[in-house]
Amino acid sequence: MCLAIALAGGKYTDLQMARLQGWCGLGPTERNKLPPIWGKLQAARDKDETRAVLIKHFERLSATLEEPLNIYFADRLVEDIAKLRFSPNRDPDYASAHLGVSILAVAPISAASQVRLDEEAAETRNATVLTLSDVRAAKKGPPAAPKAYDPGMRLLRQYKFFLTELFGLKCDHLREVNLIYLSLRSMQNRVQAAMGADEWAHLTWAVVVDARQFFGTFSDAEDIEAGVFPQSNLGTTRSMVQAHTVVRIRDTPTQWLPPSPRGPPARSRAEELGGTRSGTKRSGGGGATGGGAEGSRNGKGGGKMDDASNPARKNPDRHPLLAELMRPHEAAGLPLRVREICTAAGIDSLKGLGKWPNNKPCWRWLLGECRERCPQGSDHLRSAEVDADRAKALCAKLAPGIKKLISADVERGTPPSKRQKTGGGK
Ligand SMILES: [Zn+2]
Repeated sequence: MCLAIALAGGKYTDLQMARLQGWCGLGPTERNKLPPIWGKLQAARDKDETRAVLIKHFERLSATLEEPLNIYFADRLVEDIAKLRFSPNRDPDYASAHLGVSILAVAPISAASQVRLDEEAAETRNATVLTLSDVRAAKKGPPAAPKAYDPGMRLLRQYKFFLTELFGLKCDHLREVNLIYLSLRSMQNRVQAAMGADEWAHLTWAVVVDARQFFGTFSDAEDIEAGVFPQSNLGTTRSMVQAHTVVRIRDTPTQWLPPSPRGPPARSRAEELGGTRSGTKRSGGGGATGGGAEGSRNGKGGGKMDDASNPARKNPDRHPLLAELMRPHEAAGLPLRVREICTAAGIDSLKGLGKWPNNKPCWRWLLGECRERCPQGSDHLRSAEVDADRAKALCAKLAPGIKKLISADVERGTPPSKRQKTGGGK
């Protein structure tokens, strides 16, 4: 069919196509099932055309809906979509929370405001000197998170449509967002009054953080062949919503939270939600494993829901070679991020770490810590189960990455005191 041809011959490279397929959850024979919008986007020759394609596509969709979509395709969003730049940083922060694919990128904006934004953008483009709107635009951070049920649900709906059109219904992030939406809707009577501004802030942040790790996971042809796709980690958030547990995340931007009588909440850096092998099957949401004792003294975990039933846990029985490998990294107070280490070591996929014949090791656990119940469903091996040669080979692969991260960190010159609390050290 023509779509398949357009895509096959289109302007995205095979690598980019594999990534797109990964986010869309499409197997090796399903490239022709990519959402039709990609055919149109690939035919667009420049940013203006890309923008026109997006606006037209969503206007057409909006006309068929009971509630209109009001997505504003700002320059940056158009560019991010055209370049498949969906996750500006895997370690999300407040200032960039609305960039890339983010629930805040599609916050509904009234038609009047859209016109004003267009005018401002045109003014900025044509200006030869810095204008007031430049200054304002530069200061513009993400929009506020919704504070109540109706605007919150509206935002979720708009985001769902956006994801559906771009990534289709097999996108795992969309699937989880949708399940959260449905839970909230089915509990409307209870939730509507019970969920306050701070919980909406936490929930919004959870969705932003999940999009970062999900769209920061890059599939390659091998992944697609193996049917291994990026996975959403929103399952925990959903269980909390369903169980009417208070949804709370440690590093939700304080800008969104109502002032707390107990003083501002402690901020922590977003933990790697990633480490997500784009590969693994979901761990089935099995029963709680108890053993919460370890979790509390572990300062990490920002960006993740406080998950009392599945606390982070240091590996008490690390292989000595791996402990040695990680010592300088920990001494520098750097957060444990396996993917980051791999990337720095020039290994572009976790697969590059090799296959172990009898088990599927959790790299994160081997290097330092993981959740009590592995979110990736991988094996938390004891030291005795690690073959010395394999440990040696793993060290050889990762050591250059660790060295690089440490020297980059020294260059940035973050005073260690600022990092101590989030670091992996004791
Ligand atoms: Zn694990």
